[in-house]
Amino acid sequence: MKSLNLSVMLSIFLIVLLYSCSSSYALSDVSTSSFNGKLYECICQNSDYCVPFSTAFVTPTNDSFNTILQSTAQNLRCLLPSVTKPQLIFTPMTESHVQAAVICSKQLGLQLRVRSGGHDYEGLSYMSDMESPFIILDLSKLRDIVVNTVDNYAWAQAGATVGEVYYRISEKSKTHGFPAGLCTSLGIGGHITGGAYGTMMRKYGLGVDNVVDARIVDANGRILDRQSMGEDLFWAIRGGGGASFGIILSWKLKLVPVPSIVTVFTVPKTLDQNATNILYKWQQVAADKLDEDLFIRVIINVAADKKGEKTIQTAYNSMFLGRADRLLQIMNDVFPELGLTHKDCTEMSWIKSIMYIAGYPSNTPPEVLLQGKSLFKNYFKAKSDFVKEPIPIDGLEGLWKRLMEEDSPLVIWNPYGGMMAKISESETPFPHRKGIIYMIQYLTLWNDPSKESATKHYDWIRRLYNYMTPYVSMFPREAYVNYRDLDIGMNKNESSSFIEASVWGNKYYKDNFNRLVKVKTKVDPQNFFLHEQSIPTLPITMKGKSVNHFEM
Ligand SMILES: Cc1cc2nc3c(=O)[nH]c(=O)nc-3n(C[C@H](O)[C@H](O)[C@H](O)COP(=O)(O)OP(=O)(O)OC[C@H]3O[C@@H](n4cnc5c(N)ncnc54)[C@H](O)[C@@H]3O)c2cc1C
Repeated sequence: MKSLNLSVMLSIFLIVLLYSCSSSYALSDVSTSSFNGKLYECICQNSDYCVPFSTAFVTPTNDSFNTILQSTAQNLRCLLPSVTKPQLIFTPMTESHVQAAVICSKQLGLQLRVRSGGHDYEGLSYMSDMESPFIILDLSKLRDIVVNTVDNYAWAQAGATVGEVYYRISEKSKTHGFPAGLCTSLGIGGHITGGAYGTMMRKYGLGVDNVVDARIVDANGRILDRQSMGEDLFWAIRGGGGASFGIILSWKLKLVPVPSIVTVFTVPKTLDQNATNILYKWQQVAADKLDEDLFIRVIINVAADKKGEKTIQTAYNSMFLGRADRLLQIMNDVFPELGLTHKDCTEMSWIKSIMYIAGYPSNTPPEVLLQGKSLFKNYFKAKSDFVKEPIPIDGLEGLWKRLMEEDSPLVIWNPYGGMMAKISESETPFPHRKGIIYMIQYLTLWNDPSKESATKHYDWIRRLYNYMTPYVSMFPREAYVNYRDLDIGMNKNESSSFIEASVWGNKYYKDNFNRLVKVKTKVDPQNFFLHEQSIPTLPITMKGKSVNHFEM
């Protein structure tokens, strides 16, 4: 007993010694760079816990730099050698490290790129096209999740993946869920900032529609919750896009009821199986006529038909909040053209349906979600559109022709309607609500790192986007901010212009853009949270004047 006490005391003494010396000990690691040394000193001084440099900081000279940079980065295109790399990656261990990162980056004139799950389509959480040096604040170590099924909420730290959130909810209850993304490796931190749709959107709306509180670090390094940030800022962070208003530390999510058994199916149809006419019908029923418990998206790609010839495949991929019998009744009444049978349907728990939709093999245990890993990585470019009128048959045939020209095209149609149409456009910054039948996501994927290859695929997707113009929303041509697309405009030269940003801002946020600018001007007047598509501040000359219809 005595010797145990002695050894415990010795360990405590060593730990205290280690951390009390950590600043000077660690500085020897970074003596080659006064910049890194200054940043490290500053972070130690401004946080309540000083870790050894090597524990939380990596620079390009460290062996582990590339591994950490690439760890969650989803788009290989944004990791090419020609892309500017960060000066340093800082992985905070505590909330106070995040506060210190803001204070110190400001002091040292550094740009901050905030990364939760690394799924940004244009890589903005780990690369920068701007001139000043930048560091990555990688929140992957802040991933605690607390679930309370009595009061129906969960607090999730930004670095947790949505898969981990779903798993932790299902661990506590088989009849609770949360309506967010289909891909389980998304970071809850960045994902919710843009909307966050998934298989339950027609029943419960988006992730942002089900957030009840948040903790953020603002541009002054303060931690704020819903009450202390006020309703304007709380409104802005729920759909106004990532890294414009502050750093989300954690979201408080309202849990929603799910049945203990849900049903899934995937039914593919190729051109020789009447794919075009069936898809035409889907457009007429998907949003308005189908039960809110039912979500049927369509995944469109180029595949081989029975004769081995190239064809278009439309796969109807679905989750139904109920049992197969009721699903079959609904389908027979409203969408018999798909020919859904009992054999196509599989009943399972909600958490299993998450894994099914995400693409895991059927026998994978849900615990795999705790690894927070993505199932695939590619070089890719994507764009989005919103559709208000069904695309006519000849429009679809033109789309097929263009898809056939590309090596690896992927187009996904996500049905709207239901709860999505009941929430007003201004309730959150996410404006794509009533009147939208479905959202289109266009993707081109490739595996060759050459510039020529990238140019070829960029050209193809831009031509496709032009082709789709008459069939999709106009004035503005709406786009989903979580499917970030720098083709529609970006901030340049270390600043952001309200006029230039209005072009892409109106596409992402419609009339909400003006309110976002107003909130931004108030909470971050120096525009510290700046990136290629961050919300701009108002120019001094416009402050106090009205912007379009919005009284400032
Ligand atoms: C394979 C794949 C599948 C997808 N599936 C869906 C889907 O089903 N539904 C859907 O709605 N979307 C989907 N998306 C889009 C996804 O929602 C966005 O890419 C989202 O921004 C990812 O969040 P993240 O934290 O993983 O990404 P990150 O790259 O880490 O961050 C994205 C943006 O948010 C900022 N940001 C990150 N963390 C924070 C934070 N804590 N505070 C403030 N800003 C922050 C970043 O700086 C960046 O600008 C998918 C994307 C991919 C690549």
